[in-house]
Amino acid sequence: MTNPAVEICPACGVKIIAGQKVIFSAGSPGDRAILWARVCQFAKKPGCINQDAAAIAGAQVRAMPSLKSTLFSK
Ligand SMILES: [Zn+2]
Repeated sequence: MTNPAVEICPACGVKIIAGQKVIFSAGSPGDRAILWARVCQFAKKPGCINQDAAAIAGAQVRAMPSLKSTLFSK
């Protein structure tokens, strides 16, 4: 029986399962890059668990290549 770790971002309120899959309160599931693009880059609140550029970059390479310039241009 598997029991994937579920993290809940205290700033954004979304669930991250096994460090990868993101469950939004509305809409279809995504990954950390999509979460960052949709929520975390705007939230910028203390305690947000999705501000790790390396983890986001690892996800965005698969999901949203166009995010790369957004992530690293600042
Ligand atoms: Zn967050």
